[in-house]
Amino acid sequence: MYAQIKPLFIGGEWVQTPDAHEIFNKYTGELFVRVGKAGPNEKDRAIEAAQRALAETPLSPAKRFQILHRVHQLLLERVDELAECIAKEGGKPIRDARTEVNRSATVFLLSAQEAVKIKGEIIPTQVAPHFDIGQRLIYTIKKPVGIVCAITPFNFPLNLVAHKVAPALAAGNAVILKPASDTASTALKLCELLEEAGLPKGYMSCLVGSGSNLGEKLLEDPRIGMYTFTGSPEVGKHIRNKVGLRRVTLELGSNSASIVHNDADIEKAAAKLARMSFAHAGQICISVQRIFVHRDVEEAFMEAFLRHTARLKVGDPMDPETDVGPMISEKEAIRAETWVREAVAEGARIVTGGKREKNVYFPTVLVNAKKGMKVVDEEVFAPVVSVAAYDDIREAVRMVNDSKYGLQAGVFTKSITLAHQIPHWLEVGGVIINDTSSFRADQMPYGGVKDSGMGREGPAFAVEEMLETVTVVVNLEE
Ligand code: NDP
Repeated sequence: MYAQIKPLFIGGEWVQTPDAHEIFNKYTGELFVRVGKAGPNEKDRAIEAAQRALAETPLSPAKRFQILHRVHQLLLERVDELAECIAKEGGKPIRDARTEVNRSATVFLLSAQEAVKIKGEIIPTQVAPHFDIGQRLIYTIKKPVGIVCAITPFNFPLNLVAHKVAPALAAGNAVILKPASDTASTALKLCELLEEAGLPKGYMSCLVGSGSNLGEKLLEDPRIGMYTFTGSPEVGKHIRNKVGLRRVTLELGSNSASIVHNDADIEKAAAKLARMSFAHAGQICISVQRIFVHRDVEEAFMEAFLRHTARLKVGDPMDPETDVGPMISEKEAIRAETWVREAVAEGARIVTGGKREKNVYFPTVLVNAKKGMKVVDEEVFAPVVSVAAYDDIREAVRMVNDSKYGLQAGVFTKSITLAHQIPHWLEVGGVIINDTSSFRADQMPYGGVKDSGMGREGPAFAVEEMLETVTVVVNLEE
């Protein structure tokens, strides 16, 4: 526990603020750390520093590469320290927290590589005989959008910050980060690494404060050129409506599904699905929430799935054996419990789980859960999964698509034909064959359709979204 208030990182300086925000250990409930809390003055200071940096110390692509590559190395050197912070303030099992730090290091490496690949293109000129544009050279250049505001959720307090900060810097932008208040000290630790890597002052600020207060002030500030948001669909839609014509990337929630077809390796599918339905207590945007299994293999699948689920160890996230830790708050665990109770009252049956101890909700498997129930239609964001059978693959596809969301879907099948056909039928941003909806490689384009958002992340794709294309036309006539 820290004795004093951890300062905020504003325009490259560590700044003490009059107000503090308390962050608690999500398993023990003890105070973990006090961090500074930003108000309008801190917001203005961060934005002015960003404007100065962009005007006075533009960063060459080679310099950006050097800094981001150094952060990649520093992250790898501090895996244990950062993972402990994520486990304590986020409640994520330490094993998964270590994976998160290693993945974040990869995101910085990939972003460093993108920084030196940014380029415009030459546009062909004499394209149609009936419109002569004369002797002209047309080409594009890429420029940073300016100040990028990154707003991030609690569930991946380092990697989802990395997925915004690293590409934004790779593109030459300055960043104002507003992390989720509940897990903000991890983001402040990343600022220490950016400073140590030699990022010039002004390019990075991390402001802690609530979404309803500081978040709103950031959305209202016209000096910000782009918002990159990961979080709930509700807040995402609000941001979209509020920022007008300024650029926005939205990575939102889902009620992701996975299909287990009758030709799948049932044992492997059951093991993966048990792990990824309950990893980080279901608080992952691509967490498996709905499983559709072919009726021919339903019984065999359920036996294996429940066997693997029973093996999951629930408890202290600092224990390296733990698979499922606490939820972010007791309020959220009570919400999950209430949704399950409502589903049961409407005809669903709990096969295992349905138990809560404070903010720990035990892995819960439901059958007979149907459309119209919150556990099916809404994003449950808790360790709760429902299993339903289908007779025909088209029926399974219809059930997956019968959702307001569309982030990713998993399909277990040995059929090479089905594996290549089904991505055309499913209404999602990513189809994962022979793995769950929850698979993500940091280099791949990642994002959703429908209420799951707009825009794509993954360093190469995020950098593109964070650049402005400027067209240059040179008249070569003498
Ligand atoms: P929230 O939407 O509640 O919060 C996300 C961030 O937005 C936080 O920093 C929050 O601040 C801030 N915020 C809240 N209200 C406003 C506002 N009015 N203006 C500006 N900022 C605001 O999400 P959670 O943190 O609860 O995260 C869970 C959600 O994130 C789930 O829906 C999940 O699916 C989604 N998610 C999506 C991912 C994807 O890649 N598609 C990945 C991971 C999560 P504060 O909390 O400090 O008040």
